[in-house]
Amino acid sequence: MRRVVIIGGGAIGSAIAYFLNRDPQEEPFDVTVVERDFSYTQASSALSASSIRQQFSTAINIEMSLYGIEFFRGLGETLRVGDNVPDIGLVEPGYLYLASPDGADVLRENHALQKAHGVDVILMAPDALQARFPWMSAEGIALASLGLSGEGWYDGYSLLQAFRKKAISQGARYVQAQATGLQRNGRVVAGVELDIGNVLQADVVVNAAGAWAARVAGWAGIDLPVRGRRRMVFSFSCPDTLPGCPLVIDTSGIWLRPEGRRFICGFAPPQDRDRDDAPLEVDYRVFDDFIWPALARRVPAFEAIRMTGAWAGYYEMNLFDHNAILGLHPDCDNLFFANGFSGHGLQQCPAAGRGVAELIRYGEYRSLDLSPVSFARILENRPLLEKNVI
Ligand SMILES: Cc1cc2nc3c(=O)[nH]c(=O)nc-3n(C[C@H](O)[C@H](O)[C@H](O)COP(=O)(O)OP(=O)(O)OC[C@H]3O[C@@H](n4cnc5c(N)ncnc54)[C@H](O)[C@@H]3O)c2cc1C
Repeated sequence: MRRVVIIGGGAIGSAIAYFLNRDPQEEPFDVTVVERDFSYTQASSALSASSIRQQFSTAINIEMSLYGIEFFRGLGETLRVGDNVPDIGLVEPGYLYLASPDGADVLRENHALQKAHGVDVILMAPDALQARFPWMSAEGIALASLGLSGEGWYDGYSLLQAFRKKAISQGARYVQAQATGLQRNGRVVAGVELDIGNVLQADVVVNAAGAWAARVAGWAGIDLPVRGRRRMVFSFSCPDTLPGCPLVIDTSGIWLRPEGRRFICGFAPPQDRDRDDAPLEVDYRVFDDFIWPALARRVPAFEAIRMTGAWAGYYEMNLFDHNAILGLHPDCDNLFFANGFSGHGLQQCPAAGRGVAELIRYGEYRSLDLSPVSFARILENRPLLEKNVI
């Protein structure tokens, strides 16, 4: 049996572990997942806003998320283990992108691409927006784009656990340890060194180490342009309900969505304040100084909100072009990368997991061609820029 060692047991590593041995008719792999923290206290998959959309600006991201929603809808059966039917609580109220006059043309361009891929999305003028969501102010909005189906949110931690439990039921071993080095002999990585003292011999190694992936790549002498970028999420309560509230992306850059009886929101900090690997602490001043005033301008009922909590997690940001990096690096024959998802990795974990498993088994993609997000574009300096990074 070919031995596959996956470094990182988050949603991406666990999805790969599942897809590798999904088909009982195929020759099984001997799969070991090395995960240093079984509580996932810092893992992005557990700290995520766990939403899914097809409103992207690149074909590959649209296609990956179309597969994501198809997989999520059928996940209860697909990842069922005996009587245990996982439920990730998927709901599909849509994403609502709001554009100022400056952003309207980009929204139209993205809309044309999304429609060409069969995405269920409509453009709305401000009056239609106001009629559909009377609790929202349309001030400063020239155009809006609303996903009618296929977009929404779910529980990211349950998703990770569903993949993990299914992978284990198929024979994968999860080892609680920190990988500390790779043993590279020429063009292959022969083993993964662990902090618990042993070395796992491997025929194939997968880097699924999320925000910490550049360190793993560095052990093989490969430069991976992925860094942890802190993102904060604030939760708040509001006395009013907002009927039909989708995930709203405001012109200010702030996003918000319902979460049970409350709401959550967040934003991307300005580039000059977006440091690598900032500690996972919450800067509460941001909420009062910036987020709350912007929220209340868009939704007048948010004048009366109360912040109820907050957390911070890392986007595993691909600094080159904000998209996934999947597959082999040309310098090494058996070290596979599944990194750099830049804030959209949870919805992409079914497509990435299936794709990387196909590459390992067949040496090529058999379902969705993920070669647009291969290492080659980085080495050839051909960025595949995603404009819709939230
Ligand atoms: C605030 C926030 C909001 C987000 N919102 C969304 C969203 O709405 N939709 C969406 O699709 N995505 C979203 N994301 C992004 C998404 O959560 C990530 O892209 C995804 O979870 C990445 O999964 P992963 O398995 O690669 O990383 P992780 O979940 O971080 O898993 C990596 C694992 O590797 C382990 N590890 C690292 N190094 C080592 C080592 N040397 N040895 C052993 N183990 C190691 C870590 O402990 C960790 O558990 C969000 C992320 C954040 C932080």
